[in-house]
Amino acid sequence: MNLASHYVCDDCHARTPLDTPALLCPACGGLLEIEYDLTRASREILTRAAGRRDIGLWRWADLLPVADGTEPLYLGEGDTPLLTTRLLGDRIGIPNLRVKNDTLMPTGSFKDRGFAVAVGFARSLGVEEAFTYSSGNAGASFATYAARAGIDATVLVEDVANPTKVAAISLYGARVLRLRYRSSLEIFAGVSALAEAGFYSFVNFINPVRHEGMKTYAYEICEALGWRAPDVMVHPVGTGGGLWGAWKGFRELRRMGVIDRLPRMIGVQPSASAPIVRAFADGRTTAGAHGDATRTVAQSIAGDAPIQGGVRVLRAIYESGGRAVAVDDGDLFEAMRLLGAEGVTAEPSAAASVAALLRARAQGWVSKDDVVVAVVTGSGQKQPDALERAAPPPAGDVRADPDELLAVFGAPVRSGG
Ligand SMILES: [Zn+2]
Repeated sequence: MNLASHYVCDDCHARTPLDTPALLCPACGGLLEIEYDLTRASREILTRAAGRRDIGLWRWADLLPVADGTEPLYLGEGDTPLLTTRLLGDRIGIPNLRVKNDTLMPTGSFKDRGFAVAVGFARSLGVEEAFTYSSGNAGASFATYAARAGIDATVLVEDVANPTKVAAISLYGARVLRLRYRSSLEIFAGVSALAEAGFYSFVNFINPVRHEGMKTYAYEICEALGWRAPDVMVHPVGTGGGLWGAWKGFRELRRMGVIDRLPRMIGVQPSASAPIVRAFADGRTTAGAHGDATRTVAQSIAGDAPIQGGVRVLRAIYESGGRAVAVDDGDLFEAMRLLGAEGVTAEPSAAASVAALLRARAQGWVSKDDVVVAVVTGSGQKQPDALERAAPPPAGDVRADPDELLAVFGAPVRSGG
């Protein structure tokens, strides 16, 4: 019982049938959103989903764009743990802090939610070649699912992308083109021209399907909380596909009558390039260019301008009563160490959600009684130089000699006595 019914345009509200690989609205060029017949959605679907723990996010397939008779491109995406925190919540002053650990996805980042769904849907519509641009994580995810789907993939990688991530994209079989540019605005002009020329694009929001995968965050989180929304969800923001997708999921659950209120959405950017934060501070609904994306370690969310002026991300933040928060690189390294002590290896951009909470709590934007979910979007193993910078150095050197080892260790702490 798939409930996806049509695309609808954000601007002119025209409907477009789902059986075409549409990108922007054919009538006005606006962003498209997938609509569902949620009046037919019921707790029965959610109960059935709850019984399927072996297929990751595909247990929500009734509420995703999935063509009849197609097999999911399943690599283990979805159903990542929503961790309670041992020390982190107390350290920040939010005892009910949960960490959504999406570092455990197949390619080590949350991007797999979106690409698993969007690439599978594109394949069912007959798409044979496609492209996206990326700072690394999206490219690796796209390359992986495109390889599984048999789609010819080209990834335009930003020149700030680290070599480990670029190598992964090539390893998965995609054609990699390094992108030289001065501002993200040039990237958007370039990828828009490709899409207008008929090349199928997986760039966030131009592609209307990727954030459908991201909405499974909302389903997984609300289910884990006993079909309640958290008070606050914190998400790093580059183009904002994750935050917008989650926001769509929460709104769908409320329309279905499954949850009765929505969370406040907090978006986080590095202070070196924080166009969304700047726009929010000025009360604007569209973000212009701001900052220098090369001056932060948070490569995955570094961009001096958000695609489409960040209109959807800003809408989610305003509608939800949330905030946009900027964090410094020092905050990111501190957050990486705090997450490390909880068993979560975050890349700097992924630690941004925890870094933002340190600030949000201090400023009183989040209270000690709030149930807060911080999404950790990508693995630190993919940005090894940053991991080395964040980690404390070794405690010392010692020879593999019994006397020397005993001298360094001193007297043992007797446990259980
Ligand atoms: Zn339109």
